[in-house]
Amino acid sequence: MIIGLDDTDSKDGMCTTYLLAVLIEKLNAYGKVKDYPLLIRLNPNIKYKTRGNAALAMELELKDRNDAQKVMELVIETVEKMAVFSEENTNPGIVFIGNPTPRLNKDLSEFSLRAVQDVLEIREAKELLIRHEISHKGYKNERGLIGALAAAGFSLCGLPDHTYELIAYREQKKYGSLREIDPGTVWSADAATHPDTWDTVDIENKRIVFAPHSSDPILFGIRGRDEEAVRKAFSMIRSEPVERYLVYRTNQNTDMHLINATIHEVRNDRSYILSGTISKSPRTIMGGHIIFGLSENGAHIECTAFEPTKGFRRIIRELMIGDEVTVFGSVKAETLNLEKIKVNRLKRVELRNPVCCGKRMKSMGKEQGKRCQKCGAITKERVIETLPRNISEGFYEVPPCARRHLSKPLIRFPFQGS
Ligand code: ATP
Repeated sequence: MIIGLDDTDSKDGMCTTYLLAVLIEKLNAYGKVKDYPLLIRLNPNIKYKTRGNAALAMELELKDRNDAQKVMELVIETVEKMAVFSEENTNPGIVFIGNPTPRLNKDLSEFSLRAVQDVLEIREAKELLIRHEISHKGYKNERGLIGALAAAGFSLCGLPDHTYELIAYREQKKYGSLREIDPGTVWSADAATHPDTWDTVDIENKRIVFAPHSSDPILFGIRGRDEEAVRKAFSMIRSEPVERYLVYRTNQNTDMHLINATIHEVRNDRSYILSGTISKSPRTIMGGHIIFGLSENGAHIECTAFEPTKGFRRIIRELMIGDEVTVFGSVKAETLNLEKIKVNRLKRVELRNPVCCGKRMKSMGKEQGKRCQKCGAITKERVIETLPRNISEGFYEVPPCARRHLSKPLIRFPFQGS
């Protein structure tokens, strides 16, 4: 039986991953989780999300098929006990898939991918649930059914790419208090397991980034390429007592949200890979954000490196009109928020007015030639000049402290040997 769950959490209390971890313990009596539970990140631009737009699923291998009803009741009872129904934006959804068919497989693989890349309506989830006679329970406006069905869909159809995260949970009495984690052991764990684990620390910004600051049940999460790597890092970290922990398989750090497109196809609230030429120089706006214009085939979009992307902005500032780049990121309010950039070709030369008497000659008007304002010399020709460039062609990414859950770090790209 596949169980999908979503939208049980609140900003300062529950977290759906914790609910699943508790549920797995309760379900032990009825069966075992096959493989790994799934932690799925859906479209990061959805306005209804509490934090990281996560949805959860697991496949339970039942000891006895006759227990299916009891299992469903236990899941419903646990969600009803633990979900934060009082929060306006919490609309839980639970989905149970018992007897998959090839048709369901096809419909769900499309639906699940759209939940990561697109914006769905609640009625689309309900329509699929009813058409395929899938047992489900939605609460309040039932929005959680979208995420629950999408996560269950990935459990059924598999993930095209995946990573792992070990999440450690706090004792309940500690919720809301400062997290006690020995920083030295975190840096050592990262040093011993990187690049098989990543985003535990941010070396450039000298920060530990694997622990949230909110008052939720998560103590920290270790991301990595396999269970062995995240477990090894976990074993090295000293901290306050861990109430429980769980290793999830996840679509985090896979770039699954990105759609290959042209600029004129772009829509708000989706995420893209776009290629083009810099058409407006980078400029710094209030708050330290940097914006440049990107054009391709007459279409134009603004791209922004926000202040929290820290040192990444140094690269963006160096771009010039005429550089050819590929950008990766989410589009909101007609602006692409940069997660990564690939500089394909830097403009290295430029036609400019010649220098005479130590100063650049001035144009005398259209097709009138150029004149030296000091000695009066006149020339028709412009000269080719080499531009001093302080960056090289290649990939650049935001630092770990600014990485979004779905963003694939460069260490996971094949040219990095992983
Ligand atoms: P956390 O990550 O802290 O557990 P959250 O950020 O996952 O919280 P939710 O409380 O789950 O946020 O809220 C997100 C809501 O948006 C859910 O109801 C989910 O079903 C819905 N949703 C997710 N993806 C989409 C989508 N692509 N289109 C429309 N609705 C979506």
